[in-house]
Amino acid sequence: MKVPFLDITRRIKEHEKEYKKAVEDVLMSGKYILSDNVESLEDELAEYVGVKYAIGVANGTDALQIALDVLDINENNEVITTPFTFAATADTIMHTGAKVVFADIEEDTMNISPKEIEKKITSKTKAIIVVNLFGHSADWDNIKKVLSKDIFIIEDNAQSLGAFYKNKKTGIFGNISTTSFFPTKNLGGFGDGGMIFTDNEEFYKKAQYLRVHGATRKYHYEYLGYNSRLDELQAALLLLNLKYLDNWNKERRTIASFYNENMKEKFIVPFEKEYAYHIYHQYTIRTDKRDKLKEYLNSKGIPTAIHYPKPLHLHPLFEKYGYERGSLPVSERVADRVLSLPIFPELTEEEREYIVKIIKEW
Ligand SMILES: *Cc1c(COP(=O)(O)O)cnc(C)c1O
Repeated sequence: MKVPFLDITRRIKEHEKEYKKAVEDVLMSGKYILSDNVESLEDELAEYVGVKYAIGVANGTDALQIALDVLDINENNEVITTPFTFAATADTIMHTGAKVVFADIEEDTMNISPKEIEKKITSKTKAIIVVNLFGHSADWDNIKKVLSKDIFIIEDNAQSLGAFYKNKKTGIFGNISTTSFFPTKNLGGFGDGGMIFTDNEEFYKKAQYLRVHGATRKYHYEYLGYNSRLDELQAALLLLNLKYLDNWNKERRTIASFYNENMKEKFIVPFEKEYAYHIYHQYTIRTDKRDKLKEYLNSKGIPTAIHYPKPLHLHPLFEKYGYERGSLPVSERVADRVLSLPIFPELTEEEREYIVKIIKEW
């Protein structure tokens, strides 16, 4: 048997007529960028998350970049973030000229540690980017306890749209939050896309300007902005996917509890803290024999992925900040042991059972 790590065509086949109609409607509308579908998606997602405003942009990286610019982050500032994340969380900070300050993670959830954040705060700390990693919320109450009011929070929610912290959806805990519609995300599109969320009207307006070259009205430029627009085709298809998102997330949870039951004796399986509703963007186990296990599963037709093989502070890009092996030991230890297994809503019963059977034989 050969299992895909992720197969998006399965959901297209399941809802083929709907997807085709949405595409055709956009094609025939004559409007392709920042129009009705984008506005509807902004409205629906703002309501879904529970914030006042949403701004559709070209991708999740731009969403972070624009969020940092909205907050005027610059070379005089420091921005704290996690080393155990996708590059965009930290390289966008670098683009502003601000210093990237990494704070180590919690061993269980692999999210940034409130205690470690506290150690890294200086008089120059202007903001923090907190990631809700792999579908599991960060520890928001404890993070907010260590931050003074003048430190802005950007919530990178690219992996956790639909997750909860206590009984609130993630995406409401930052002054600004961001997400990505990269095809592999829980709410994925069929190309690039991203969104910014905020309750602050001033931030909302500035983000809108920045996505169109900083124009506050047509051909009148006040800010140094970008071309970062979301297109209608993506928005129309994402509106369809949004209808299914909660069910898809539930299905991911069903798979995760089946895996947990069958794997918890052999490996460290994902944690779900009492405050969290985990939506398993990734199902990531940990073992000392990670590389051997990966090879074994691959030989049995089960592809896996490593999120992430090396924490960001050990990459050449971040060398100038002076971190070395040993600087952030928890993230380093975790990176050597993590392995992500196939998890997506359309994974069949047979595939789920096959994966568990092969792992039991390991
Ligand atoms: C995917 C992702 C991003 C970037 O989104 P893109 O749409 O690929 O630019 C940023 N942060 C995290 C945590 C992500 O997983």
